[in-house]
Amino acid sequence: MMVKAGDKANKTADYECQGCENTVHLNKGDTITACPCGCKEFDEVKQSASSQSSQSQHRK
Ligand SMILES: [Zn+2]
Repeated sequence: MMVKAGDKANKTADYECQGCENTVHLNKGDTITACPCGCKEFDEVKQSASSQSSQSQHRK
């Protein structure tokens, strides 16, 4: 789900900036801050293989 700077994260997850490939980890209730690249929109990163954490190395 898409979130914007100034919103609060509605769940604990990683969020990917829509302007660059930067990801930030947010805890539920954290206020989202704008990315250093200037973008203010983030999309939740889907953890499709949560039991295989090593796969996160391949994600772009
Ligand atoms: Zn960014």
